[in-house]
Amino acid sequence: MDRQIDDLTQDLDGLIRALTDLVPYVGSDVCPVCGRDFGEVSEVGLIAHVSENLSQYTQQLERVRSLNLTRSAASRALESMRREITDLEARRLSDDDYGQLLERSEKLALHLEALEALGDQVAVGERLLVERREADAAVAAAERDAWVGTSRGHRWGLSWPPAGTSDGHQRGLSRGHGQSERQS
Ligand SMILES: [Zn+2]
Repeated sequence: MDRQIDDLTQDLDGLIRALTDLVPYVGSDVCPVCGRDFGEVSEVGLIAHVSENLSQYTQQLERVRSLNLTRSAASRALESMRREITDLEARRLSDDDYGQLLERSEKLALHLEALEALGDQVAVGERLLVERREADAAVAAAERDAWVGTSRGHRWGLSWPPAGTSDGHQRGLSRGHGQSERQS
C-alpha cells in the first residue's frame, strides 16, 4: 500500500512536470509532440486543454498526498494506543480501564480500516493512470505510423479523469473526441 501510494505520487509528479515543461512550447493549436492541429478534434484551444489537464493532475496529487498523511497519522495513533495498552496491562489495570482502552483501540482500528479502503480507491486511480499511459503510447505509435490522412483521436484527447470526477467543461471535451474518433 505505501509502495503503491509512493509510485502513484511519483507518477503524478512526473506527469505534472512533463506537462509543465511542455507548456512554453504550446504557442498555438499545433501540438508540439505530434505536430497535429488540436483544432481538428476540439473547439477548446490546446493551451486551455493542457492547463485543464495540469490542474486535474495537480488536484489528484494533492488528494493522494493528504490521504497518505491522514493514513500515517492514524497508523501512528493506533500503534501508540497499543503500546499504552501493553504498558497498562503490565501494571495490572482494572477490568474497567482495560475494557475502555480496548474499546478505544478497536474504534481506532476501524478508522484505520476505513482509511485503507480509501487507499484501495487510490489503487484504482493508479490502474486508470497506467491504462491511460498505455492508451497514450498506443495513440502516439499510431500517429507515427499513420501520419497523413488520418483523423484519429488527439494525443491529449483521452478522457481524464474518469467519468464523474471532471467538470462539465472536461466532459464536453471527452464527448468531442469520442465523436471525432467514431467518424474516422
Ligand atoms: Zn499531439
